[in-house]
Amino acid sequence: MSNSAASLDTTVATTFVEIAAKVARGTRIGRDEALWLWKNASDEEMRSLAGSVRGRFHAAGSCTYMVMRIINYTNVCVAQCDYCAFYTLPGKDGGYVLSHEDVFAKLDELLALGGDLAGFNGGFNPHLPLSYYCELFAAVRARYGERLEFYALTIAEFLYLADHAKVSYAEAAQRLKDSGVRWITGGGSEILTEEFRARHSKFKYTVAEYFEAQRAIVEAGLKTTATMVIGFDESIEERLEHLERTRQFQDETGGLASFLCWTFKPYFTQIGGIEITTAEYLRHLALCRIYLDNVPRIRTSVLTQNKEALGGLNYGADDFDLPIEDEVTQKAGATVSLDFDRILDYARELGYSPVYRHVSVGEPAWAAKSANQSLVASEESARG
Ligand code: SF4
Repeated sequence: MSNSAASLDTTVATTFVEIAAKVARGTRIGRDEALWLWKNASDEEMRSLAGSVRGRFHAAGSCTYMVMRIINYTNVCVAQCDYCAFYTLPGKDGGYVLSHEDVFAKLDELLALGGDLAGFNGGFNPHLPLSYYCELFAAVRARYGERLEFYALTIAEFLYLADHAKVSYAEAAQRLKDSGVRWITGGGSEILTEEFRARHSKFKYTVAEYFEAQRAIVEAGLKTTATMVIGFDESIEERLEHLERTRQFQDETGGLASFLCWTFKPYFTQIGGIEITTAEYLRHLALCRIYLDNVPRIRTSVLTQNKEALGGLNYGADDFDLPIEDEVTQKAGATVSLDFDRILDYARELGYSPVYRHVSVGEPAWAAKSANQSLVASEESARG
């Protein structure tokens, strides 16, 4: 979509003034320019550029949030990613699969806490057939209707269950859709380069397979999102390759409703390591906003950065969620707080007016528009 101007402007800018001029014109920047910004631009300059791209989609001072819960329906997994502290191999102690009643109890609690979005995320469990997922999601839809929305699976789990069931991605997507599923989100992406996956998650599908599955999901009429995790051992070049592939996919499909980046929690993982700083995360968020000029919604991660994540609103983000549970990241060191008012007050201190976003309401009109159109944020964008 967008950026006919960009395709005509192949000059590589090599100073901040030149890059800023490109961004101001709505011209897309390339990887070399993004690399230049990462290495040379000050935090203030990153905020300024990210803010100007954010302003194409959102009114100054506006932001949205959700209260959500990740439901980790099984921790049994055969993928053995070396950065994961969550999984248990089949047949080992501690493995579990949640019953429908367990899931309903978690969803009831979510509603009681004022949330209305759940995300299902588990492992590659060879004992769960496709019918398990279809029955679970049909039961959730039947019990809750429009009272809550749910993100059913990540792309990575979708890949596994389709392969395990020996059906095409198109058929798996259709069967899930027929069971009441509307969203399969872009989780399980971490860093989308083949080299990263070979280093850390060689049983978790290739990047090519990831996008092939995501394309099938979009073509089935399901909604999807993009995600990214930073703070492993990835290079800046790998981060930029991830952003480039995401931008290309959005150009080709327009199917990404949002982009969420969070940070790796290393505790109790095989690879270990030290967490990156919040300052690095915020600079990266700014780079994402500048580079992903075709993704209207850029989300900042309270789950992994706590309330400091809201600093991301000054670095181009416009949306966040207040999580009440995610066993995957909590087992690796993430903490959650149910003191939502404290977090929302912090957003207000920063000059933003957070508005609850109900995913079930749907996306606002601007989400379908070209990213290089200057859009006037309105009440709709706050609802979005
Ligand atoms: S990150 Fe996901 S796919 Fe990888 S081992 Fe953990 S649960 Fe399995």
